[in-house]
Amino acid sequence: MDIDPLFDLSRSEALLARAKDVIPGGVNSPVRAFRSVGGTPPFMVRGEGPWIFDEDGNRYADLVLSYGPLILGHAPKAVRDAVSDALGRGSAFGAPTTAEIELAETIRRFKPSVEQVRLVNSGTEATMAAIRLARAATGRPCILKFDGNYHGHGDSFLVKAGSGALTQGAPDSPGVPKEVAGLTLVATYNDLASVEALMATRGSDVAAVIVEPLAGNIGCVLPVPGFLEGLRTLCDRHGSLLIFDEVMTGFRVARGGCQELWKVRPDLTCMGKVIGGGLPVGAYGGRRDLMQRVAPVGDVYQAGTMSGNPLAVAGGLAMLRTLEATNAWRTLEDAGAYLQAGLENILDSLGIPGQVPRQGSMLCLYFSDKPCTTLAEVMATDRARFTAFFHGMLRRGVFLPPSPFECWFLSTAHDDAALDHVLDAARSALRDTMSTAV
Ligand SMILES: *Cc1c(COP(=O)(O)O)cnc(C)c1O
Repeated sequence: MDIDPLFDLSRSEALLARAKDVIPGGVNSPVRAFRSVGGTPPFMVRGEGPWIFDEDGNRYADLVLSYGPLILGHAPKAVRDAVSDALGRGSAFGAPTTAEIELAETIRRFKPSVEQVRLVNSGTEATMAAIRLARAATGRPCILKFDGNYHGHGDSFLVKAGSGALTQGAPDSPGVPKEVAGLTLVATYNDLASVEALMATRGSDVAAVIVEPLAGNIGCVLPVPGFLEGLRTLCDRHGSLLIFDEVMTGFRVARGGCQELWKVRPDLTCMGKVIGGGLPVGAYGGRRDLMQRVAPVGDVYQAGTMSGNPLAVAGGLAMLRTLEATNAWRTLEDAGAYLQAGLENILDSLGIPGQVPRQGSMLCLYFSDKPCTTLAEVMATDRARFTAFFHGMLRRGVFLPPSPFECWFLSTAHDDAALDHVLDAARSALRDTMSTAV
């Protein structure tokens, strides 16, 4: 597949210059600025199914999908109808609504460990609230997280965080007091011994171990056998809570998320992305006795003007109902398997060392001759080659996450035409990296 001769980003370039004057870096979330791959981010105007269209009229097969939420693709009719119906009745009430009960009941049905749930507005809010609750419930000050796991931008988590902070080469963020960071212990993902060692000395201070059960913010790293089960055992032994951050994986890798796939029951679960149907929603929930500590029934304060917002709840409910009614996870698995096999074949035939780790509709491509199970192995992959590949794909009409440390996502709208378009582009872009990459 040739590079589109009409490919041009001049309108986006002009918009970026204008945006930079009034918005830091021109973007409202750092990864969108393409810092880790360079170049100009296309300004998007419209999405339709698996496709997304920019200001210059370029069309891309979209594997970003707003970093995960758009599991039915862009502008699915069920969500559009539900949200516009809700909008017609008013966009916010500051009072409870029936739809919030329905969304909470649906979440509980999908994830039985979530006996009670509180809706918030983002994944960041969900993780911040979950650790406050864990600290209150245990009376302990510390949390334990994993290097390269991302839990949003709360102060307690910007301690060797992955994703944006990782690609910027800043393990910490200025502005996070060292006293706050000092309450976060950091272990190595997929290395149970590193957790055991920390817990042996600090276990009685640890309110909770928080983990991305599948590490999706350093690409796509699956838990090694025994890792999640081992965390459950260690938490029980030391009286710490186990929090699964399933903001990304929640309703995506399976109906019940990672906890269903790996059969480990966390005490608390953080959710986001897919449950908002493409609108801003997060949630945290879990054991009833813990959730009963949350205000107003309990004394742990947490609130939100827009929490349970009718538009977002309508969108999320429509999305979850559609996923269930169509058994979308089957479709997503097929699409994922097709793309994975196609990419592996191309890498093989070109003799390019690469790995395509995948779980359902989450996958990525590491330029590495061996599988990556830890952050250190991910960091050792060939990033220069990823950059060349990324731009080759962009020019051929495929919108990939602009970093080797971001996961790619598929939707139920990614049909054969879209997947074959991605594979055609990949074949040609990968061939190009053989002459341009180091
Ligand atoms: C995206 C993400 C978050 C943060 O969610 P926001 O809605 O961006 O605040 C937290 N945890 C994980 C695992 C995520 O992928």
